[in-house]
Amino acid sequence: MKTEYDFFVVGAGSGGVRASRIAASLGANVAVAEDTFLGGTCVNVGCVPKKLFVYASQFSEHTKESKGFGWEQNSAPTFNWTTLRDNKDKEIFRLNGIYQNLLDNAKVSTYHGKATLLGNGKVQVNDVVISAKHILLATGGIPRKPTFEGAEHCYTSDDVFHLETLPKRVLIQGGGYIAVEFAGIYNGLGCEAELIYRGERFLRGFDTDIVDAAENEITKKGVKLTFNCDIVKVEKQSDNSLLVTLNNGETRVVDAVLSAIGRESRIQGLGLENTNVKVNSRGFIEVDDHFETAEKGVYAVGDVIGRMALTPVALEEGMSLANHLFDKKPIDIDYTKIATAVFCQPNIATVGYTESEAQAEFKHIDVYASDFKALKHTVSGLDERTLMKLIVDKASDLVVGCHMIGPDAAEMMQGIGIAIVAGATKAQFDKTIGIHPSAAEEFVTMRTPTRST
Ligand code: FAD
Ligand code: NDP
Repeated sequence: MKTEYDFFVVGAGSGGVRASRIAASLGANVAVAEDTFLGGTCVNVGCVPKKLFVYASQFSEHTKESKGFGWEQNSAPTFNWTTLRDNKDKEIFRLNGIYQNLLDNAKVSTYHGKATLLGNGKVQVNDVVISAKHILLATGGIPRKPTFEGAEHCYTSDDVFHLETLPKRVLIQGGGYIAVEFAGIYNGLGCEAELIYRGERFLRGFDTDIVDAAENEITKKGVKLTFNCDIVKVEKQSDNSLLVTLNNGETRVVDAVLSAIGRESRIQGLGLENTNVKVNSRGFIEVDDHFETAEKGVYAVGDVIGRMALTPVALEEGMSLANHLFDKKPIDIDYTKIATAVFCQPNIATVGYTESEAQAEFKHIDVYASDFKALKHTVSGLDERTLMKLIVDKASDLVVGCHMIGPDAAEMMQGIGIAIVAGATKAQFDKTIGIHPSAAEEFVTMRTPTRST
């Protein structure tokens, strides 16, 4: 194997693989180092296995819904955790192979091992010292570990994909993406699930109407939500259950605690001390507008820079950097119009400004909202409501925000994201003819503002 490259990438996750492949396609000599599994967080312990678990968890509700449509089950369905876990593992193993093929076909060399920066354009992997003109740090993140007494008895999201058995009673700490998604997963799989969040209201940063609706819908589905509450200590009992003491004086006895309290950058042992690379107060690598760190020729993208910890963002940053370095293209990423979804049940999806952000940003806004029961549930009997919101800047008529909680919200929001990036006005939404009968058609039929400020 060569030991000199144009571009050496540390981390074969979303950002690193995309950057490597684009750089190689532009004629650069490229290698990537990976010390765990190809594909990174998203493929191995993130988006992909999580979404498979979300699908698995929805069948219990689908089964209930089917009764109103005439389907009769003569015995209650049972769930086999081992089948789900092992089938998921098979799929992940297949994806790891696909990632290796993608790198091989792009003629990107792969080093299996931990990479450490030595300074002066040099990196060490195992006992090989490599020189590179450009080095990219795409090392991602790791779950933040709780620090209360007995924290060692708790799982993080890295653990829950591989458990031997499915816990019957689960307490989830946190109020962000992972906590809310896993509360839905456990609930749907038939576990008793409670989410506790330290603040007034979970999903901080999302549109408040959507958060209110999420609180209602998630509670209706059977998840217990407890706010203004946190864990003080966790004690393992003789029957292996966990006794959890909360700061409101209450206790819980559960089989598992999942702590989902955010993620930190993965920089330990990376050798940053051998370089001028700087880390900000939140612990993420500092980069300039071109993703270059304070060490010339060393760049960073994805979760390790802590902008938006989403796979498509890491992909875009990696691709933009490679195009910039090897094709002199400008870097132009608009972080304000990125669509995102929380795969809770029902899904939340959003793009652009929330109502309160828009109020702060624009002089006058119109808010269009539609809250309804989906056609399917008139017969399924499910007590679930959908909420859709459009936020419009009155002066320009631009649609500057769109928010939804309801089935398939994530699938719908991608298209709305395109419209918002393209600069669509409310008049153009109104001119668009709907698809009937669908929930999505509401986005083009909301004619009267619900409120204007
Ligand atoms: P990663 O994908 O984490 O890749 C970094 C790679 O670098 C890893 O493979 C790591 O092993 C390797 N590495 C680190 N240090 C070294 C070293 N010194 N030497 C060699 N290799 C090293 N995002 C979404 O958009 N949608 C979702 O639905 C979604 N769901 C998620 C669910 C969970 C439970 C989690 C945890 C995350 C989820 N995310 C989701 C976030 C998404 O997974 C990340 O934003 C994305 O993977 C970040 O990509 P990255 O390239 O920055 O890092
Ligand atoms: P988030 O940042 O989304 O949420 C962290 C939660 O933990 C917040 O509610 C936060 O509260 C709380 N918290 C933080 N520190 C503590 C503490 N010390 N004690 C108690 N509670 C605490 O992180 P996640 O871990 O849920 O997910 C990490 C990131 O991964 C997400 O931000 C997202 O970018 C990405 N992700 C994306 C998904 C998707 O696209 N569908 C799915 C899963 C993850 P507070 O709000 O008060 O700070």
